[in-house]
Amino acid sequence: MIALGIEGTAHTIGIGIVEKEGERCNVLVNKSKMYRPEKGGIHPREAANHHAQSFPLLLQESLKETSIERDDIHLIAFSMGPGLGPCLRTAATAARALALMLDVPIIGVNHCIAHLEIGRALTGCRDPVLLYVSGGNTQVIAFMEGKYRVFGETLDIGLGNCLDKFGRELGMPFPAGPKIEEMARNGKKYVELPYSVKGMDVSFSGILTACINQIGKEREEDLCYSLQETTFSMLAEVTERAMAHTEKEEVLLGGGVACNRRLQEMIKTMAEERGGKFFVPPNEFLVDNGAMIAWTGILMHESGLKMSIEETKVRQNYRTDEVEIKWR
Ligand code: AMP
Ligand code: MG
Repeated sequence: MIALGIEGTAHTIGIGIVEKEGERCNVLVNKSKMYRPEKGGIHPREAANHHAQSFPLLLQESLKETSIERDDIHLIAFSMGPGLGPCLRTAATAARALALMLDVPIIGVNHCIAHLEIGRALTGCRDPVLLYVSGGNTQVIAFMEGKYRVFGETLDIGLGNCLDKFGRELGMPFPAGPKIEEMARNGKKYVELPYSVKGMDVSFSGILTACINQIGKEREEDLCYSLQETTFSMLAEVTERAMAHTEKEEVLLGGGVACNRRLQEMIKTMAEERGGKFFVPPNEFLVDNGAMIAWTGILMHESGLKMSIEETKVRQNYRTDEVEIKWR
């Protein structure tokens, strides 16, 4: 079966065309375009306009890059939430139009679960604890008693958002995560920052404020280093506790922040020290992408889930544990 997936929860509009051959996930094409605000953070309406404008060409290029014909597409999947309302509605509208035009089923996918499913498909892990760290989300997710459940999450902003906001204070363009990683490599001194783990949850806004307050007083490299060390340690702590609690031996990374090599190294060390295994898909599947939506759509569809057009309303606060899981 071949599905076309559309991702559009936030700053990225993505199209992925994926084929499921037996249990194998063949990604035929995976293309995206990212909205980059000239200054400040993401403006939802502007991001949505960007997606609407980019979509036609992106679709044309995606189809051209594969040898498949329109008739080969058997399913349209789209990111139903969680995310920014205007962005979600733009992607959903494109998905509905395509499904009606091609006369194929449509299915709305939970974005966080899609990060986990594409990781399972491409890395070969079976039943992992997912540490999902992106711009807007930070969650520790695992499958338990028939559902994907959130074992820990941010109480305020996503870690990517925290890094981007700190980077903006240092004059870095959006997204600042990669530049912060680069500068952190030249950090020499750990600057004390609040460490904020509350039970299984984490929070970043206090750390962000504390770090911003040190600008001008400490070297920028040291601040980037300290921000990474503090927040990544917090994530390692709650992820380890989720592994212990669920008795799972695999840990998987997802989300754009998971491109960070230092975070990968810390989570890998944590997993290996407890006799577990560490998995991370290639960067292109860590960031928001259409392939993960297409793949999860196929899993849902093959498990018998169906959606009418009326049921494809987007859900800005779509929770991971609300999703009915029939494919596991
Ligand atoms: P996503 O929302 O999953 O598409 O990921 C975007 C977020 O990932 C942005 O907040 C980026 O700053 C962040 N990001 C991307 N690459 C890195 C990196 N190497 N280190 C830290 N954060 C990163
Ligand atoms: Mg994401």
